[in-house]
Amino acid sequence: MGIGHDCGWRHVTEASQRPAVFLDRDGVLIEAIVWDNKPFAATSPEDVRIIDGAREACAELSSLGFLLVMVTNQPDISRGKISQLFVDQVNADIARKLSLDAVRVCAHDDRDACLCRKPKPGMMIEAGAALNIDLSSSVVVGDRWRDIEAGKRAGCKTVFIDYGYDEPLRSVPDHTTSSLRQAVFWIRDQTPSQRISECHKN
Ligand SMILES: [Mg+2]
Repeated sequence: MGIGHDCGWRHVTEASQRPAVFLDRDGVLIEAIVWDNKPFAATSPEDVRIIDGAREACAELSSLGFLLVMVTNQPDISRGKISQLFVDQVNADIARKLSLDAVRVCAHDDRDACLCRKPKPGMMIEAGAALNIDLSSSVVVGDRWRDIEAGKRAGCKTVFIDYGYDEPLRSVPDHTTSSLRQAVFWIRDQTPSQRISECHKN
């Protein structure tokens, strides 16, 4: 796998490997809670709302041959604001409603010095190994700089959904758009038809 170097599209994917779309959770699959133009994660069940069009977007990505892997930082667990159980229940519900293939959660905060908290690429690399994912033909979709940086470090393409948060990007994504639906259009346009047919055969 081409981790950490040229992240151009590969036109020949090893037969046993699949591409994935790594989807951030808050702001990408469910609505982020926005205060003072800054995004926050859901802290109660009533905060959890699937973003309009997310079901259709996930179904389209799946039909293009991508595995769907949700990758989410949940530092409020480490901070004691929410429980691991709450996050697990919310994530299971999202995964069921959107037919996701896998979920990866980082429960740490910066002080924990883990390998998984985005912008570190640990969740993508671990899921990539576990699910036999070709990272170099995979895409990370996120709404914050940490998502984009993690995707770049993992050797994936990156799509930034720009909601105009009061938070600068720290690296340049491959594509910037305004919604998950628009992100899917770009991913579809970038996906070699040869690779799609290979994925469908496997
Ligand atoms: Mg987010």
